[in-house]
Amino acid sequence: MATAFQTRVTCGLCGDEVKLVDSHIIADSVINWIKRTSATGFLRSAGDPNRRVQDGITAKMLCEDCDGSLISGYEKYFIENFFKPRLEADSFDFEYDDRLLKFAYSLALRILLLEELRPERRKDLNYRHFATAKEYLRRYLMGKTNNGNGIESYVIFTDSGENVMSVEESDHSFSIRRGHPERMGFHMMRSVDSQAFYLNNVLITFAMMPGFMFTSVIRPRKINGKLGHRIDPQGGSLRASNGEIMGTSLYEFVRERSQLTDEQKISDRQKAKIEASIKGKIERWDNSRTKMLAELSGMSVLDE
Ligand SMILES: [Zn+2]
Repeated sequence: MATAFQTRVTCGLCGDEVKLVDSHIIADSVINWIKRTSATGFLRSAGDPNRRVQDGITAKMLCEDCDGSLISGYEKYFIENFFKPRLEADSFDFEYDDRLLKFAYSLALRILLLEELRPERRKDLNYRHFATAKEYLRRYLMGKTNNGNGIESYVIFTDSGENVMSVEESDHSFSIRRGHPERMGFHMMRSVDSQAFYLNNVLITFAMMPGFMFTSVIRPRKINGKLGHRIDPQGGSLRASNGEIMGTSLYEFVRERSQLTDEQKISDRQKAKIEASIKGKIERWDNSRTKMLAELSGMSVLDE
């Protein structure tokens, strides 16, 4: 299903009327990491399990200077100081400086810009709610203001659920199980997702990638609820813990997104294709994180 994109003529960050380049929301290196550690070498995006996504969604939103030197610098900071240590070395403790908030702000701005480019897809959004926040994010990222308290940004560390107990409700009974509710750990650790939406009537931006979720509070600027660790504009330290998603206001949203993928079910033809693909790569499968997570969450092993 093709989505028609609107086109912009000015850069969504510096505002110059120059040639725009394809920008993504989730960093290429994150997408590549998922492909590299998966059974099939392909990425699936949340919400559309039948489509293999070679790369994340891209759209012409920013000029080359803003995308290349500004935003990719903050992405690199996040990859080197958070993503890799967390996923490759199982780190729990992190020190950070002002670049983490800038990375979070760059995600928020790009999510708002991307939503604006495909308005027919999201009838629920009031685009007038974007204006003030967008202007503030631009000014901050361009260094025109250094007050980093204009918009709250949060990070949640996610995990497979190995060390988590959760309650599963069905009809009139409930049981306690090891791990996150079915599919949720897999969803959080193997897919990417990004969008703007209303959480308890507050507009937020949400970006999910393996091990991390970033949110920013767009309008109004404060939220009554817990969205994880608030990112301090000056920097600080963060300690990740297991099952963080469970104590937050995002829990139901993420759980529903993971079920949505489940309900859409992968078509039989697609399943056969994946099966064939996995059979051709048995060795790769044996060593993949897809397999490890699939076994952990008790799901069909052919779903990625
Ligand atoms: Zn620009």
